[in-house]
Amino acid sequence: MSALVEINDLTKYFDIGQDQIVHAVDGVSLSINSKEVVGLVGESGSGKSTLGKAVLGLHDKTSGNVSFAGQVLPQKYRSKDFQSRAQQMQMIFQDPYSSLNPRMTVGEIIGEGLKLNKDIDAEEISQRVDHWLSLVGLSAEHKSRYPHEFSGGQRQRIGIARALILEPDFVVCDEPISALDVSVQAQVVNLLAELKESMGLTLLFIAHDLSMVRYISDRMAVMYLGGLVEVGDADDVFFDPLHPYTKTLIASNPEADPESERQRVSTTIQGEIPSPVNIPAGCRFANRCPEAMSICHGTTPTLKKPSAAMVGNESKENRRVACHLFD
Ligand code: SF4
Repeated sequence: MSALVEINDLTKYFDIGQDQIVHAVDGVSLSINSKEVVGLVGESGSGKSTLGKAVLGLHDKTSGNVSFAGQVLPQKYRSKDFQSRAQQMQMIFQDPYSSLNPRMTVGEIIGEGLKLNKDIDAEEISQRVDHWLSLVGLSAEHKSRYPHEFSGGQRQRIGIARALILEPDFVVCDEPISALDVSVQAQVVNLLAELKESMGLTLLFIAHDLSMVRYISDRMAVMYLGGLVEVGDADDVFFDPLHPYTKTLIASNPEADPESERQRVSTTIQGEIPSPVNIPAGCRFANRCPEAMSICHGTTPTLKKPSAAMVGNESKENRRVACHLFD
C-alpha cells in the first residue's frame, strides 16, 4: 500500500491573547495509506478534531505540512484551494444538527457540491442526489424536505451523502457518531464501512468509542495533549496496548455487552489532563501515569518502533509508541 496522505511534523497553535498559546496539535507525523482506515482516538481536548481540520485546510497550519498523493498542500487555504480539493478530500462533521443549512432542502444540500464542482445539468444532479439518498438508506421523496424534519441518524446520513457525492478519495470523519443515540451509532458505522468498501475510500475516523474505532479501522492512532502516543494495527492497539495512556483509555471504554459491562472494573484515568497552554516538560502524561519514572519528567519520549523483545518477541511492523518504558 502507498501513502495517500502524509502528515509531516504538523503543528497547530492558537493564540488566545495575553501571551497565551494553545498547543492544540504539536509535531504530529502520520501516513495514511490508500484505501486504509486510520482511527484516531483520545480524550476530549487531545487535539483530534483540530488535527483532522488542519489536514483538510479548515485550520491554517502553524508549521509542518500535509501531502496528498505526493503533492504538498498549501499552508493556508484560500477558497479556490477548497474548491480544487473538493473532489479529493471531504469531511463528515460531528454534529448533524448544526452542519446542515436549515434553510436549504435536503436535495439542495446534497447536490450543492455537484453544482459547484461539476459541469452537469440540474436533471443529472437530481438523479445523482436520488441515487445517494438511496445509498444512505433514505429515499428520493426526502429531497424536498428540510433538515429539521429528520432524526439525528437521518441527518448524519444526509451529511454522509453530501460528503461522498463527489466521490472523494479521502474523508475525515470527525466524531461522526458522537451526537447519535447508541442504537443508531452502529448503523452509521456500518454504512460508512460499506461505502468504504464499495468506493475504496481512505478514511481518518475520529471517535471516542474505541470499540467502534477498532471495528472500522485498519490502524489506530492514540492522541494525548496534542501528540501521538501510540500507533499500530487496530487489533494490536485495542487488545494489547503498550502505552500507559492507551491502557487506561481502553480499560475505561464501556463494554457493548451489558453483562460484561456490569462485571468490568471501571478504570478512570487519574488526575487532570494538563492545560494545552502550559505543556509540561518531559512526557505529557507523566502527572497521570502510574508507571512514571524520573526520566519521564524531564525527557520527552519520541514515537518509535519498540524492539521485538519489548513486545513479546513479536515484530509488529506498524507499531509505534512514545514512552520511556520502551526505550
Ligand atoms: Fe508513563 Fe514515563 Fe511512559 Fe510517559 S514516558 S507514559 S510517564 S512511563
